[in-house]
Amino acid sequence: MKLLLLLAALGAGVLCEKTFIGEQVLRIKARNGEQIRQLQDLKSLAHLQLDFWTSPANPEIPVDVRVPFDSLQSVKIYLESNNIDYSIMIRDLQEVINAEKQEMEINQRKERNAGTFNYGAYHTLDVIYTALDAIVLDYKSLVSKQQIGLSFEGRPLYALKFSTGANRPGIWIDAGIHAREWVTQATALWTANKLASDYGKDASVTSLLNSYDVFLMVVTNPDGYAYSHTKDRMWRKTRSINSGSRCVGVDPNRNWDAGFGGPGASSDPCDSAYYGPRAESEVEVKAVANFIRRHGKIKGFISIHNYSQLLLLPYGYKCTTPAHFTELNNVGKAAASALSSLYGTQYKVGTICSTIYQASGGSIDWTYDIGIKYSFAFELRDTGFYGFLLPANQILPTAQETWLGLKKILEHIRDNPY
Ligand SMILES: [Zn+2]
Repeated sequence: MKLLLLLAALGAGVLCEKTFIGEQVLRIKARNGEQIRQLQDLKSLAHLQLDFWTSPANPEIPVDVRVPFDSLQSVKIYLESNNIDYSIMIRDLQEVINAEKQEMEINQRKERNAGTFNYGAYHTLDVIYTALDAIVLDYKSLVSKQQIGLSFEGRPLYALKFSTGANRPGIWIDAGIHAREWVTQATALWTANKLASDYGKDASVTSLLNSYDVFLMVVTNPDGYAYSHTKDRMWRKTRSINSGSRCVGVDPNRNWDAGFGGPGASSDPCDSAYYGPRAESEVEVKAVANFIRRHGKIKGFISIHNYSQLLLLPYGYKCTTPAHFTELNNVGKAAASALSSLYGTQYKVGTICSTIYQASGGSIDWTYDIGIKYSFAFELRDTGFYGFLLPANQILPTAQETWLGLKKILEHIRDNPY
């Protein structure tokens, strides 16, 4: 009987979705280096199970941290006793997640009844993969789907290829390397449809695709994405098994071979910024890196994250500016200004190190160092009202404004061959 109960409990544990009842996200504003150090001390207290959405590193950037219900009192007492200012960004995380889930279900029914696809809604991995096939089918002569590898759990890794001729140089765009950043996969899917439908209609897209191939990876971390839908909405990492640890997954944007294992990444498998056992240990990272190496003519690399409204340039693993800083910064500013022209959304432009903090093992540092001059990372909406839980009604505005920024970068690459 005991064994049966144990098995039942284990079964429930495996099937259950993680809940966040009473969890809050606090927005903490450190006033100086001393308070940053106190927040880093707080971060090191593993038993509190804190999830730092932004890391304490720079007093200019608020620190957003998800606090489990059981740790709320200790954290608030710690902040208050150290005179550190904070406000409550999300009062009850589970309520926001429930609302998101409900909206997805309503949309799913609508889509099923009407036989349409709503780009302004969040979708599961399977539905996104079906939508990729639909785009390929609708634009057969322009778009194809390439499988560039398999995820740790055996899911196919797909990149869409937009091409109008052989042997062209390429531009790479990816989204969703961090699982929980749902607005990025949704934005990339909208962008795929936009690129395909604008070819032959929009002069800028047409001339771009007449000289460059574009590769677009909508879900770079499919295991993590699927897990964030079924088990843990707040999941960020891959789902690989870490030998010798009960904790699963590696931060795939700390796993690239650029300053690997340096500052701004963790050696702890339980940390959400764990860099992994070695560079490119994650098959999802290795698949993209291999694709870039084999292609040999990738001239632009753009990686899409959220949140914070930033357009980031190399470097993150070191704080020296890249050799092409002036050009990249000017392109970034032009892109940010095009982006803000639609809804006034403000972006900051700068290197990862100067804009947020030192972070090693990131993709755009690796691509820049291997010679892809035009390497950029977007951090989409918002600046910390909803954070990773951006409501679906912001997907289309986000995608539309981001497109204007992206297009500026793509035009610059097109007009400045190297
Ligand atoms: Zn990210």
